[in-house]
Amino acid sequence: TDALVLRNLTKTYKSGLQALKGIDLTVAQGDFYALLGPNGAGKSTTISIISSLTLKTSGSVEIFGYDLDKEASKAKQCIGVVPQEFNFGMFEKVFDILVTQAGYYGIPRPLAMQRAEKYLTQLGLWEKRNVQARLLSGGMKRRLMIARAMVHEPRMLILDEPTAGVDIELRRSMWDFLTTLNEQGTSIILTTHYLEEAEVLCKRIAIIDKGEIKKDTDMKSLLASL
Ligand code: ADP
Ligand code: ADP
Repeated sequence: TDALVLRNLTKTYKSGLQALKGIDLTVAQGDFYALLGPNGAGKSTTISIISSLTLKTSGSVEIFGYDLDKEASKAKQCIGVVPQEFNFGMFEKVFDILVTQAGYYGIPRPLAMQRAEKYLTQLGLWEKRNVQARLLSGGMKRRLMIARAMVHEPRMLILDEPTAGVDIELRRSMWDFLTTLNEQGTSIILTTHYLEEAEVLCKRIAIIDKGEIKKDTDMKSLLASL
């Protein structure tokens, strides 16, 4: 079974804009995949459909063999999503955000607390556990989103521009975290508009522009062709 299969995925917004014009993409288990493209290419729309935040117009999404329409809860259990926008309760405390999230997945409270500690520590946020989310810096909020996406230990992590607006030092530490996670077996797909980010992290790359996949290849072949 592949981690993620998109088949002929299309999205036309109410405005009439065709954001996705038939996306086909397969992420194998253990892959680290980059979806690279300029602003407006359709990256966020793709991620948002996989995360069930946006409805597709047609096509299918399969996550570890589960069809997102027919077996939504099983499919969702397999993925952790890091959206681009911060979307947690700003007055909630960091630790509570993680425990609450774990609760959505039916994780018992003692285990939820263990997981919260584990991922806050790994992402360098343990000292901030009792701080309200609104008081965190942008980089810390981004790491909090990653920690939150990890509490149910998904088989696949999906990140939308995870390092946008992040300084170089933090970017490097986020890259290290993601690389280690992938080495430990978590499949990852992220969107980016930096080739360098894709190059450092990813094994495979799909280039998207104007709602279409222009190229889908392993990173080495892409770099050799430039
Ligand atoms: P990317 O993430 O690659 O920058 P997006 O998926 O955000 O691209 O956007 C793809 C296209 O869809 C763009 O032209 C964008 O303006 C448009 N778009 C995105 N969201 C909406 C929306 N809610 N309504 C209408 N058009 C949208
Ligand atoms: P913004 O979104 O505000 O334009 P960027 O995300 O482009 O900011 O850049 C944020 C920081 O990351 C800046 O310090 C920039 O110099 C640095 N940066 C930009 N591109 C890269 C890259 N490809 N690799 C590493 N660091 C980068």
